Amino acid sequence: MNTPVRILILAALAVVVAVAVVLKPRQSPDEPAAVSAIAAANLPKLLDLGADKCVPCKMMKPILDDLKANYADRFITEFIDVWKNPAAGKQHGVEIIPTQIFFDADGKERFRHIGFYGKEDILGKWRELGVAVGADGGAAIAREAPVAPDVRPREQVCFLCDGDVNPQKRTVVKGDTEQRILCSPHCYFIYFSSIVGAEPKIEDAKVSVADWAAGGLIPAAGATYLYGLDAQGRPTIKAFADKAAAAKEQQASAGNVVTWDVLRGKELATRCAFCDRAVYPEDACAVKFGATRGYGCCTHCSLGVAARLKQDIEVEAKDGLTGEVIRVKTLDGQIAALEPATAVAWFAQKKNAEGQWVSAGCFKQGFFVDQTNLQKWLDSRPAMTGRQITIAQALADKMKLSPEQIAKACKLGECK
Ligand SMILES: [Zn+2]
Ligand SMILES: [Zn+2]
Repeated sequence: MNTPVRILILAALAVVVAVAVVLKPRQSPDEPAAVSAIAAANLPKLLDLGADKCVPCKMMKPILDDLKANYADRFITEFIDVWKNPAAGKQHGVEIIPTQIFFDADGKERFRHIGFYGKEDILGKWRELGVAVGADGGAAIAREAPVAPDVRPREQVCFLCDGDVNPQKRTVVKGDTEQRILCSPHCYFIYFSSIVGAEPKIEDAKVSVADWAAGGLIPAAGATYLYGLDAQGRPTIKAFADKAAAAKEQQASAGNVVTWDVLRGKELATRCAFCDRAVYPEDACAVKFGATRGYGCCTHCSLGVAARLKQDIEVEAKDGLTGEVIRVKTLDGQIAALEPATAVAWFAQKKNAEGQWVSAGCFKQGFFVDQTNLQKWLDSRPAMTGRQITIAQALADKMKLSPEQIAKACKLGECK
């Protein structure tokens, strides 16, 4: 899918280059016509220079229509097809399409962006340039303090995913100073895959799991497991000290009876292509790079694959509230296409001991088809803190990571 986009952009470049060769420079000392029009309207202007057949340009179309319809009193939105009107491309020095140019009310160019540019990014840029687009445009959501605190007792909250701990699946990892309580062996394997240089024998010896039938904690490595699937096709794991109890439960609820080592193989079979954590594909974002398909353990990790592999990717994420599909394509580290164009990202953050904002971890990040869905999702998560960012910002945050930062991304205690 990347090839046609590239070709179109290169084709566009060829056209503009060809135009540059063919056309004579402007002789007129007059102001360009576009500038006069802006001054007359006394409004700032967004000028998008593209072509009706270029893929990222087509993705811009609904955004431009939206801006034209809803922000006509704040700024002018104009589109020029530079394949049909090459002189305009030349006049504005456009080399790659689409290019967006932001003019102030005096017609002076204030900012220029190349490639697909999402609605929230455009509005954000206008805010930066001092144009009031906030109020009715839906300013980005920011939540610095919980609406209501999380009052669950600590031992009932999974250290890793923050989910409720079901006593029948309780998993405990012994630490040097304290023990960490996890909601399931699955969260243990995610935890395990987050530890740099983890040695299975050493790490496994610290883990105990609840006996699903008899209650009480038993050493994880010596237990027998019933590995089944729930109604949504996600794996379920039940631990037993007694093999006969596992067989009995198998009669009742189906699944395979397996050892810890077999369970480890299944659990670690699929890893996040960005941070290497274990994931269930059902919970993950699908990422396509070249002919390969992989997974990102969260929406932000899925964009990180572009940074880690230095490759163009296609992400298929699900809206955190409704599960609706959100598609993102990247081109040279920028967003090339976004569907729907209204999609936004939530960057969950919390304050660390030094009072700095840090990522609240993969389990709390998400994409949403629009801000309304994000708001509804937040309404049901009163303890959540963080801020709304654009998908482009989420990608940019990953693209600026150094190889060293990528190498330790999301490893326990180092996720920033
Ligand atoms: Zn958990
Ligand atoms: Zn990840």
